Amino acid sequence: MATRPARLFLPGPTEVHADILAAQAERLIGHRGPEISALLESIQPRLQKVFQTSNNVYISTSSATGLFEAAARSSIDRRALCCVNGAFSARWAEVVEANGKPYDVVEVEWGEAITPDLVADALDRAAYDAVTVVHNETSTGVTNPVGDIAETVRDKAPDALVLVDTVSSMGGIDVPVDGWNLDVCLTGGQKCLALPPGLSFAAVSDRAHTRATTIPGRGWYFDWLVFQRYLEKWQTPTTPAITLLYALDRQLDRILDEGLAARFDRHAVMADHVRQWSLERFDILAPEPYRSDTVTAVVNKRSIDVEAMNRYLTEHVDMIVSNGYAKLRDRTFRIGHMGDHTVPEVETLTAAIDAFLET
Ligand code: PLP
Repeated sequence: MATRPARLFLPGPTEVHADILAAQAERLIGHRGPEISALLESIQPRLQKVFQTSNNVYISTSSATGLFEAAARSSIDRRALCCVNGAFSARWAEVVEANGKPYDVVEVEWGEAITPDLVADALDRAAYDAVTVVHNETSTGVTNPVGDIAETVRDKAPDALVLVDTVSSMGGIDVPVDGWNLDVCLTGGQKCLALPPGLSFAAVSDRAHTRATTIPGRGWYFDWLVFQRYLEKWQTPTTPAITLLYALDRQLDRILDEGLAARFDRHAVMADHVRQWSLERFDILAPEPYRSDTVTAVVNKRSIDVEAMNRYLTEHVDMIVSNGYAKLRDRTFRIGHMGDHTVPEVETLTAAIDAFLET
């Protein structure tokens, strides 16, 4: 690399701690030997703690979208209701369609939240055996009230599986998987877990397993039952990204040493600061009370040049932020306050943006 890249205040991938980067430099082990089994066996209970679940948490050497595919293939049989309020929830619906599963969409404008009432109305209109929802829409900085949505689904359609994307919230916002009764809760490593990209995770309920046994054509690579079969041997179905497992091993200790409650508090304080700062200078796309604690989509009402701002930030504080996503590219820019970032770092970032605004 010609120049050292700046620290990432993107909504993923986010900055990875030097110890975690270093963990990847260990000598490799075989993927069918006792060492990997010992590693996976020691990782599982810590992953379950982070997910707040007694369900098994599968590790996939893929990005999180791979687990959209898994959920579509292994958890949807008759018809899904896909909740869409941004780019990633729209992608999930696309994946459902691409896998040939019937589905309907309940949709609101990008920047708005999916409410339990909207879901209840949709469930009154047709029968579904699964509902997909993104907890934290990274494209808009909206956090959907997934706990209440899951409760609504249980009330209205007790047989429907609740499939949730927590890609940009797991490890940064409280997601009590068992408390909310989520059937599939998937996430990626590169966001609030602050790992290098390449691993994704899914906590899968017994109900979802039972469902999978009845669905033909689940494929193999992303089949919950295949993941389960190998987990029972403390293995993964295929060669995993072994060095990323080393990173995960070390990062789980760091996360649990900090403590989940403290980690969520830190994210809330970072988010409060960014929100306050944004409201004083710009505006925030997401309405209250749905503003995300991990990413803020700032309405760029001063039409600042985000590329020029990033050049300035790189030079002065070794940091960069993100432009808006897809159709919000020019209307917003996004500040990622997730993972292992600290409140003082976020304050440094906003102060540097202030300095840029005065140039
Ligand atoms: N879901 C959400 C909410 C995301 O933010 C992203 C990526 O940013 C994805 C899904 C897709 O994740 P991946 O790029 O790891 O496949």
